[in-house]
Amino acid sequence: MQYDHILIRYGEMALKGKNRKSFIIQLQNNLKRQLRDFPKTTVKRTQGRMFILLNGHDPDAIIKKCQNVFGIQSLSLAVKVQNDEEQIKAAALWALQNERDIRTFKVSVKRIDKDFPIRSQQMNRILGAYLLSHTSGFSVDVHEPDLELSVEIRKEATYITSSVVQGLGGLPVGSSGKTLLLLSGGIDSPVAGFLAMKRGVQVEAIHFHSPPFTSDRAKQKVLDLAEKLTHYGNKIKVHVVPFTNVQQHIFREMPENYAMTIMRRMMLRISEYVCRNESILSMTTGESLGQVASQTMESMNAINEVTNYPILRPLVAMDKDDIIKISKTIDTYDISIRPYEDCCTIFVPKSPKTRPSREKVNQFESQANFSDLIEEAVNGIEVVTLTGKADMEEAFNDLF
Ligand code: ATP
Ligand code: MG
Repeated sequence: MQYDHILIRYGEMALKGKNRKSFIIQLQNNLKRQLRDFPKTTVKRTQGRMFILLNGHDPDAIIKKCQNVFGIQSLSLAVKVQNDEEQIKAAALWALQNERDIRTFKVSVKRIDKDFPIRSQQMNRILGAYLLSHTSGFSVDVHEPDLELSVEIRKEATYITSSVVQGLGGLPVGSSGKTLLLLSGGIDSPVAGFLAMKRGVQVEAIHFHSPPFTSDRAKQKVLDLAEKLTHYGNKIKVHVVPFTNVQQHIFREMPENYAMTIMRRMMLRISEYVCRNESILSMTTGESLGQVASQTMESMNAINEVTNYPILRPLVAMDKDDIIKISKTIDTYDISIRPYEDCCTIFVPKSPKTRPSREKVNQFESQANFSDLIEEAVNGIEVVTLTGKADMEEAFNDLF
């Protein structure tokens, strides 16, 4: 006997009423995409659950992939047998003996197929007694067992699962529309992108760079960050905006203490243009209240004035430590701390206004003409599409 299935549980989505069906199909498609390097696997849907048929592939590698898929609450290896008492007993015994470092267990039977003649409670007792009499060294603990052996008796078959592996939770990427992530080379914005994806949002990214003040390596850093995000969803399009002329104009023509505010407003104006062009309905930033001068309430108010597109700020209530923790788990931290310049750090004014006002900023902006420069920046946008295959390509290159 061997584990030939993975059972996928998707808690939150079960609550989602009308959208439920499309969430589930999205999850199935996302899983299939994650498993494209395992061509023999298939992903099946059944009432309230999803199953991956392993067809001989290594279960550990597949579990790892599943742990990158939003919408999965938890998963377990499963063995499938017919709805037959003797077969269920044999499989349960095999599953228990297959575990290491287990002393206590509990059997949890769920009888979904009411045609199965033995009720759940009775089946629990039958299996518990059977396992105890066919093994030695185990005991039953119904409160805190080392292992909960669950047995789901469904219409089509019975599945016996052992240890539960936690999933990422959230909603399947693609089930909640698309956002344009303002992606800098910092620690915060990739985490903001990850959290937006967790709510089912598909991400495109926009990055403002200022060559020659920012180097190609600074741009590569941002592409590497975006590539990390592809591991949790779809391919990601990165719009790279040549921002040098806009920035220089700001720093020549505008009062220095308002330069930061005006620069951010220009970023949002250009981002809104990209949103319109790509039919994207929102933007996402890595802003978190109080972190730096541009992230006071006054500053957000002055910056946000230029667009009425919703701006998602998933980090707004988070502490830096928690943001860093996430960036480490999603493997973006080491990239973010690479010491390459970003357009904001280069042109950062010595004393940015922490309480800018809309009135003043509008007055300053009206004294210079930015529209040609914005148009030029928009026309110069370079689009790079990351498919999430980079790891494989690297591995492939290493072979030669
Ligand atoms: P991060 O760590 O994401 O860079 P931060 O703490 O440095 O954030 P700011 O520099 O104030 O904060 O930037 C606020 C947000 O503005 C960023 O999280 C990002 O969403 C956006 N942003 C800043 N610089 C750029 C850039 N060069 N290109 C695209 N977006 C940017
Ligand atoms: Mg930054």
